[in-house]
Amino acid sequence: MTEPHILVTNDDGVDAAGLLALAEAMRAFGAVDVVAPATNQSACGHKKTLFQDIAVREVRLANGMDALAVGGSPADCISLAAMGLRPFPPRLIVSGINRGENMAQDLTYSGTVTAALEGALQAVPAVAFSLAARDAENVADYAIAARVAQVVVRYVLARRLPPLTILNVNIPAGTPKGIRVTRQGVRIYLDALVRNGETVRIEGEPPTGILDEVGTDLWAIAQGYVSVTPIHLDMTAHRFIADVAGWDLVL
Ligand code: MN
Repeated sequence: MTEPHILVTNDDGVDAAGLLALAEAMRAFGAVDVVAPATNQSACGHKKTLFQDIAVREVRLANGMDALAVGGSPADCISLAAMGLRPFPPRLIVSGINRGENMAQDLTYSGTVTAALEGALQAVPAVAFSLAARDAENVADYAIAARVAQVVVRYVLARRLPPLTILNVNIPAGTPKGIRVTRQGVRIYLDALVRNGETVRIEGEPPTGILDEVGTDLWAIAQGYVSVTPIHLDMTAHRFIADVAGWDLVL
């Protein structure tokens, strides 16, 4: 792959319909390279697989495209590509289209978003795409989201992104009313501990959140809009620095 290309990954695994839809959509912009986890890595966070072997296998997607299946996390797919496993850098890294939304405090859990954050660490513009439909199983279910991805990517390729910054894009189920640029909202998790003998599981209902706070990602999706949130890797709580400085911490 010598021409400038787009690198596609996800966290639902190399066999996911959303990956296929996104890879297919990115062909509109030229060459596409697919490097994705061999198995579902949803909610793996920004995991770096150290101190163990990582299997790498060439596979063929349902549309005939070649892909690399990596026995690691979504972020591994990007960092391994950057270390020389694949031609690098690409023009752009896209991650998704995730089965289910990634908003508010989901971001550090999300393999979809952290793959894009790894792209930002590697100084490549990166965008994460998630569809707010946990039952989306077929490529056709991702058709509208794939069109949204093309709209966003066209702009990112033209305008670039600032350092350490990604776009986190969530697409509502159904036909979007439009696009809103948003900030992170506030999630409310409904996880529950379920005991079974000597093991435990995390179960419970899907998370909800504060849906009526205008301008947040949660609000936009609840209202039927595409949500585009610029995310920065500097997680410093800038507004709290002065307070902590005022504590007079001394040894
Ligand atoms: Mn996922």
